[in-house]
Amino acid sequence: MSLKTLREEVLEANLELVRRGLVVYTFGNASGIDRNEGLVAIKPSGVPYEELKPEHLVVCDLEGKIVDSKLRPSSDLPTHLELYRHFPSIRGVAHTHSEYATAWAQAETPIPCFGTTHADYFHGPVPVTDPLSSAEISGDYELETGRAICRTFAKLDPDSVPAVLVAGHAPFCWGPTAGAAAHHAVILEYVARMAAHTLLINAESQPLARELHDKHFLRKHGRNAYYGQVKTQ
Ligand SMILES: [Zn+2]
Repeated sequence: MSLKTLREEVLEANLELVRRGLVVYTFGNASGIDRNEGLVAIKPSGVPYEELKPEHLVVCDLEGKIVDSKLRPSSDLPTHLELYRHFPSIRGVAHTHSEYATAWAQAETPIPCFGTTHADYFHGPVPVTDPLSSAEISGDYELETGRAICRTFAKLDPDSVPAVLVAGHAPFCWGPTAGAAAHHAVILEYVARMAAHTLLINAESQPLARELHDKHFLRKHGRNAYYGQVKTQ
């Protein structure tokens, strides 16, 4: 993938977050990685989305060394890099403060799978991290946020659950491209809103039966997936 293509993909992912109403002002950011080159492109810090151009995106290596930019990267860059280093299959990360997903993060409550919409995308509840300690907050805060996410996934598959709620903060989502990460952020917000409404209608609502949950996730993902059209390439 050329750097130009990576920049365009990441710009498009950032704009998708705005188009779908997940971002107010400059909250939120999306990034993408070229695994062959080991280069990450991310939204610059504090630049309004409506002014964002491909050339504004900041390109750095996996250690955060800037290789091509006059602008500073999003302050959440160390969180994105920690996810790329620990989840080798992912090639895009999206972070928003979307209303309902953030409300669940603030409540420090995992989002249960109440229905097949959730099960189509997330194979299990969307987990929440442990709160960061005082030392983590006063230390390398954004890196520690990434580490907290990775600890949460010590026994979870990031490809099966492509999102997390950072306690007291907001969601991070990922996927095989920057666009997929943004797509997951949109779906997460939709699922988070429906889960809140489900509990409002009936506070005793129970998670979806495991069989139906597995059925919906596995018909779209994995070796025996059959949802959608047959891929010809
Ligand atoms: Zn944030």
